[in-house]
Amino acid sequence: MTAFGQEKTPLPLFDVDIQLIRFGEVDADVLLYNMHDNENTSALAGRVFAEKYAGDYYELIHTGKRNLSFLHGKDSVHVDPNRIYTDTGIWLQLEKNEVTDSLAFAAIAQWRDSLLAILRPEDRLLVIALHNNTANKYSYKSYKPGEEYADEAQDLSRGSVCDKDDFFFVTDIDQFESLSKSKYNVVLQSTLTLTDDGSLSVYCYQKGIPYINVEAQHGHLTRQIKMLVYAYRDLIEDQYADKQDKQTRRALKKKLRELIRASKF
Ligand SMILES: [Zn+2]
Repeated sequence: MTAFGQEKTPLPLFDVDIQLIRFGEVDADVLLYNMHDNENTSALAGRVFAEKYAGDYYELIHTGKRNLSFLHGKDSVHVDPNRIYTDTGIWLQLEKNEVTDSLAFAAIAQWRDSLLAILRPEDRLLVIALHNNTANKYSYKSYKPGEEYADEAQDLSRGSVCDKDDFFFVTDIDQFESLSKSKYNVVLQSTLTLTDDGSLSVYCYQKGIPYINVEAQHGHLTRQIKMLVYAYRDLIEDQYADKQDKQTRRALKKKLRELIRASKF
């Protein structure tokens, strides 16, 4: 049975009160996830989409800020919730804070594991991360040759939508080719020169989980919802239009993922 509605799960880390809020359809094929608490356009877009259209939407809520901050001894430690999905990423975050304590690492890793056990990205047909950026800073152009994140991208597709802050970031070449036919900008994550920074896109790539990021400028709510609908139709509805039942689809997808994983390690 499909259940709809809203749930709240407490997920504290050290002294920080963190809630994981959920909207939409339980166990849906598509996971929608907003992990930066200051990216409120994304949060609204995700809630609206999950309630009116499709998907199982989750959102991290704590201080209204991007990073999770907690006390370690007498010092404040700041951790980006999009840099903790791999162990390497957690260590890099701790390094930035000049922390080398393996207990701190273990606590964050355990928190991450509890979070992933609820989100269950590996059971989904698609993981959609929702992010917002600020005008004229980070954009799809940041992935162009010579720019800050050039090494993280394998290919770029420029859409007719002129706003460079609104773009899809994908991990799979088929998704890239499909979404490149849209009017939106698309970035394909690199498989060769990718940095393991602990972000969810890296984690999903390593696990063979289909992942896209729908990224829009703060305040571009309509645009972000339209991009979400487009991506959902293009990557889910059109791909699974035949009448296979849910279980068969999942079994097929699982097999495919096992193959992808086996081909990588
Ligand atoms: Zn973000």
